[in-house]
Formats: sequence, C-alpha cells, structure tokens
Amino acid sequence: MEPVKGGTLAKVPAEVEELFKAYAPNASPASWAMRFAASLPGVKMVLSGMSNLAQMEDNLSYMENFEPLTEQEQALVVRAAELIKNQIAVPCTGCSYCTEGCPQKIAIPQYFSLYNEEMRETVSKWTVNSANYKQLTEKFGRAGDCIACGQCEEMCPQHLPIIEHLKAVSAHFDN
Ligand code: SF4
Ligand code: SF4
Repeated sequence: MEPVKGGTLAKVPAEVEELFKAYAPNASPASWAMRFAASLPGVKMVLSGMSNLAQMEDNLSYMENFEPLTEQEQALVVRAAELIKNQIAVPCTGCSYCTEGCPQKIAIPQYFSLYNEEMRETVSKWTVNSANYKQLTEKFGRAGDCIACGQCEEMCPQHLPIIEHLKAVSAHFDN
C-alpha cells in the first residue's frame, strides 16, 4: 500500500526529477516509486490510488509488462531517496489517519505541511506559512497543545514520531 506515499513521490524535488529524467526521460517520478515497491522480494501486488485517466495510463505503461528495477536503477532510487529525505523536514503524506481521535483537535498534517514549506524557505523572515498557521489555530488546537497521549502515532501508517515533530512545529510557529 501507498507505494507513492499518498502522491508525495509523484512530485519530487527538481534535483531528483533531473536525476530520473537523465536516465529515462519518459518515466514519471511515480513510476520509479511503483516499480521500486513492485520489485521487492515477495511483493505480488502494489495498490496505487489514482485520481484521473492520465495516472491510470501512466501506471499501465510500466505495470502491464512489468520489469523489476535493475541494480543500476536501484542505486538511482537509493540516491533519489537520500536527496528527498534531505529536503523534507517531516515526511507526512497528509493521509489524516492521525487526526480523528486527537483530544486536542490538532491539525497535524496541515501543520506538518506548513512546517515543511517553512523549512524550504531560505530568504524572507516573514512567510505566509506563519499567517496560515495562525489562522488554523483559530479553529484547531496549536501544535503546542499536544498532551503526548500517543493515539496519533498509533494510527500513522508512516510510523512518524508525531509528538516530537509537533514540538519542532510549536517551537517554530507558536513563538
Ligand atoms: S499525541 Fe498530541 S497530537 Fe497526538 S493525538 Fe495526542 S494530543 Fe493529539
Ligand atoms: S497519519 Fe502520519 S502520515 Fe498521515 S497525516 Fe498523520 S502524521 Fe501524516
């Protein structure tokens, strides 16, 4: 499940896109994620959410006559993963499985998304992310309102240390 991490791996950083294009100009970023998952030993099926015809056609283009990743391609994917990890502060896919039972009604994925944007900003001190965070806190709990009950971490399919990440979000936005 989630070979493209809720669509996150369909939009990779420019550096990674260039890496992929240099090797296979017509292969989509999502195709690399899907083929990686489908090439793992013991995997017989990968489930990918598709929201339009173009995505389905893209999936069919490489899954219909599936070719597992070669060793060279595996190395390329490992390099891409390193580059992606270096650029994403919190690898949240935005699935929202964590939010329903939060006693503090914290907008976890939205805050992580704003925080990731903020960590990519390098020039200006004031950003729209801070304003958007403030607006969200009028309706939802602040990141700093987390009481560390842990229910969200039990629900997270990415096994993220949400409580720790929220502390970083709070330190950045709540002050
Ligand atoms: S640990 Fe924090 S964010 Fe997670 S459910 Fe509990 S209060 Fe909400
Ligand atoms: S469950 Fe995990 S991946 Fe999904 S929105 Fe919450 S923190 Fe993000």
